[in-house]
Amino acid sequence: MALYPFAEWRPLAAGDPGSRLAAHDVVCLHTMAGFLTGTEAMFRDKGWAGTESHFGIGGPADLDKDGVIYQWVDTDFQADANLQGNARLISIETSDGGNETTPWSQAQLDAIIALVLWCCREYSIPAELIPDSAQGRRGIGYHRQGIDPWRVTNGEKWSNATGKVCPGQVRITQLIDNIIPRVQQELSGRPTPTPAVLQLWSISPDSGMAGAQVELSGSGFTMATGVAFGPVWADSWSTTGDQHITAIVPEPITSGSVWVTVNSQDATSAAVAFSYDQSPSFPSLSLTSVSPDTTAAGSQVVLSGSGFTSATGVAFGDVPANSWWIDDDTQVTATVPAPLTSGSVWVTVSKVDAATEAVLFTYET
Ligand SMILES: [Zn+2]
Repeated sequence: MALYPFAEWRPLAAGDPGSRLAAHDVVCLHTMAGFLTGTEAMFRDKGWAGTESHFGIGGPADLDKDGVIYQWVDTDFQADANLQGNARLISIETSDGGNETTPWSQAQLDAIIALVLWCCREYSIPAELIPDSAQGRRGIGYHRQGIDPWRVTNGEKWSNATGKVCPGQVRITQLIDNIIPRVQQELSGRPTPTPAVLQLWSISPDSGMAGAQVELSGSGFTMATGVAFGPVWADSWSTTGDQHITAIVPEPITSGSVWVTVNSQDATSAAVAFSYDQSPSFPSLSLTSVSPDTTAAGSQVVLSGSGFTSATGVAFGDVPANSWWIDDDTQVTATVPAPLTSGSVWVTVSKVDAATEAVLFTYET
């Protein structure tokens, strides 16, 4: 009898569970397209007959069961999740709450890594990705490898369904980039790196206009302190959990594509590309008056015009004002800087790639 010590043992029926495994060659990952409890109910319905997997792992959609492992079938015996592979595969189902594009949560990743590690140790399975479902392959795999049209010609058929993506591209990427390297690290005795690495996997949609809402997925987001779109920080963003950020695309200061990164105090994620749908169109910038138009350095003046919301500077001749603020899109208040010369100067308001027409201002003597 082979039970994983950190799983809850929940046999699907009493009595003899059927055929023994002929070999323990592959640990195979699946996604439930559903919840832990619903999957268990479906498996339990037919007891040892019908479809079932050895293990099931809960996710965030299962609330307090996130990362909880159920063992339904003793790993000395066959489960029926992999058709022609049933005699040599250990199967792990994972909850996705009904959405196959959901990445595994941190708790699920930790649970899968520990369980796969146990399988590798218990049955001397190599901690490496199998290239395909061909007989005799030994290692870590995923269901889609044995499903048409991805199955290689001489590969075992692991499902009669065609086009089933199980466990989904996001989870396949996590398996290859995160789980297998971490299992290898554990087996080699090297410590897992800390602090946890900040990872950014994708942005969706990957193009749009300023003001659009985008979803970022990755991991380590609980330590995020900012989201950058090229040189511009998003003003509005929030995380829901460790793997998900919602952000509002900020106004660009250049046209075309930018690299998006998630940042923490001491780390920057890998970058993913985002393209702005149109070249940024700057609202026109104009300055119509300065009031009063004659006063001394150190006094406050009110500048009237339009397009001031994105202003980046106010200049009196060649001297930038050190103290100024945007009241609204049509009004800026500035403190008149000390002049370089006596008499009159041209006042301008500028932003990144534009400046207003100049309005005359006279220093009072
Ligand atoms: Zn599957």
